[in-house]
Amino acid sequence: MAVFSRLICRRAASLRSFCTKSTDSDLHRASSALSSALPVDNSNGKGRNVQWVFLGCPGVGKGTYAARLSTLLGVPHIATGDLVRQELSSRGPLSPQLAEIVNQGQLISDEIIIDLLSKRLENALVKGETGFILDGFPRTVRQAEILEGVTDIDLVINLKLREEALIAKCLGRRICSECQGNYNVACIDIKAEDGNPRMYMPPLLPPPQCESKLITRADDTELVVKERLRVYNEMSRPVEDFYRSRGKLMEFDLPGGIPESWQKLLRALNLDDHEDTRTAAA
Ligand SMILES: [Zn+2]
Repeated sequence: MAVFSRLICRRAASLRSFCTKSTDSDLHRASSALSSALPVDNSNGKGRNVQWVFLGCPGVGKGTYAARLSTLLGVPHIATGDLVRQELSSRGPLSPQLAEIVNQGQLISDEIIIDLLSKRLENALVKGETGFILDGFPRTVRQAEILEGVTDIDLVINLKLREEALIAKCLGRRICSECQGNYNVACIDIKAEDGNPRMYMPPLLPPPQCESKLITRADDTELVVKERLRVYNEMSRPVEDFYRSRGKLMEFDLPGGIPESWQKLLRALNLDDHEDTRTAAA
């Protein structure tokens, strides 16, 4: 009962902070909003669902695996990239500020990301969802510290793919200029060596009607892809260390394409006998 009324108070305070939102969004308010938005009522009771984080460099496919696991476990898949796009397209309260940042190619601040995440988690609570799989957050140690301060993350899955495969995958990306479909023309077949098994990832070819309309993103050149990876590695290493030192980091080397990676991931997570596995994989 006490827990429940405390929750109501916290939620009310959090809602108030959204209603009186001003331009001076400060981190303290944002992090207390995040703590109010998190489903704290489930943290010590039964029926609490997983609270996981997915890490992995751009192009590794973490969105795909995070989405599949969220379907399997019945928890929301919360990708901060999606939250930013939604806020922009729905012309939400933060969209003018966001548009300016994105147009200038700047990094979105911790405060704004935490604000968006708090709103999303509030929403989850209203809908009765528990647990989450975060994708794209935390990106900095500061964000990780805030998250650690307000809730218990059970597990952080660090998806890794051998660099040569990752680069080939990024260079093989194609977009249909008409339907915006995403494809990949790279056929990755790396011979076994140095104790690494053979890695085979088939291409994801477009349907015939898209074949002649494929374009490559201007920033998918080898130089840009390598630079993107360097920046990612530099930025993410402290976040990985943060969770490693807390015993929460699970390193996961992707063995190849989605079918075998998915099965291996389920085994690593002790979910291979999960009753819904076959449905989710279908
Ligand atoms: Zn198309």
